Amino acid sequence: MSGARRGAALALAALMLSLSACSSAPKKEEETLFAMDTVMSLTLYGDNARDALAQATDTLEQLDELWSPTQEDSQIWAVNHSGGSWTTVDGETSVLLQQSLELCQITDGALDITAYPAVEAWGFPSGDYRVPAQAELDQLASRIDYSQVELAGNRVRLPASMSLDLGAVAKGWAGELLSQQLSEAGIKSALLDLGQSTIQTVGTKPDGSPWRIGIQDPAGESYLGILELTGQAMGTSGDYQRYFEQDGVRYCHIIDPATAAPARSGVRSVTVVSSSALNCDALSTALFVMGTEKGVAFWREHPELDFQALWIGEDGTITLTKGLQSSFSLAQGYEDREVQVVS
Ligand code: AMP
Ligand code: MG
Repeated sequence: MSGARRGAALALAALMLSLSACSSAPKKEEETLFAMDTVMSLTLYGDNARDALAQATDTLEQLDELWSPTQEDSQIWAVNHSGGSWTTVDGETSVLLQQSLELCQITDGALDITAYPAVEAWGFPSGDYRVPAQAELDQLASRIDYSQVELAGNRVRLPASMSLDLGAVAKGWAGELLSQQLSEAGIKSALLDLGQSTIQTVGTKPDGSPWRIGIQDPAGESYLGILELTGQAMGTSGDYQRYFEQDGVRYCHIIDPATAAPARSGVRSVTVVSSSALNCDALSTALFVMGTEKGVAFWREHPELDFQALWIGEDGTITLTKGLQSSFSLAQGYEDREVQVVS
């Protein structure tokens, strides 16, 4: 074969290869939406991706309507404005409440789904930020106590002075629900970014490799590391996600239920990886309140919760549990960062 002919044959072969690669690439469907007070972005692969995506966005919009503490027709609004009487909620809400209350108990109240009076007093839902005086904080702290929430089947009751907020757990629950729905719809590959670093993955990337998720540097604009996930969920709670500054002090949206003030525990972010997105969401919030030392002890004491964690301290130190050692890598530019592995 002459050089020119061989060149033409090779070009044809390359074209056919790229055409066949195109035709066998799985269908990809994407959507970005605003729900649960955050931007969510869903990416699904597979023949059924379009229908599955429509179902997933419907589900998210429904859950948003059920659980918003600020929308007057939500179930959480109804409970919070019931004046201390019993309120009937639907099955989905009572299951989430029950599981959340268990997590409040396991974390010894570091997670507390009745923190809303403090969240509101600091101005997070409205954006009218303020720093309450100590006397007000003491009074607010006395209104935070998950153990006062009564749940009887589909009925909920809490004292009139208290309010529920599922903001720390709802995104995780949604991830769990969607991953189940998508599996039932035959989707084997999906990346669900449920906002504020709550991620649910389904399977692997279409090419069979793990999903690679960036971990934000709390002190900068870039990713300081990458976590590889396959079918797992991940949640990050950090002081850079929602905060305001006054007189040089940063006040973040995660409240220490013991003080009713933004948690200040020496960590800037906590990332949790687990097969359960609810555990990721709930525990990342709780571990942020606890700080690294207490959090590591909590991880050692609770193998049944089946999670791994990564803390980034105020000094930039990264601490990770040994189960993340092989799936975590430092990003370019961060190779010198100190990483402590705990077992
Ligand atoms: P996350 O972003 O998952 O860490 O959840 C933080 C959100 O949960 C806040 O915006 C509040 O609405 C609410 N919240 C704040 N502190 C707590 C806490 N200690 N326990 C439960 N919910 C909280
Ligand atoms: Mg959370």
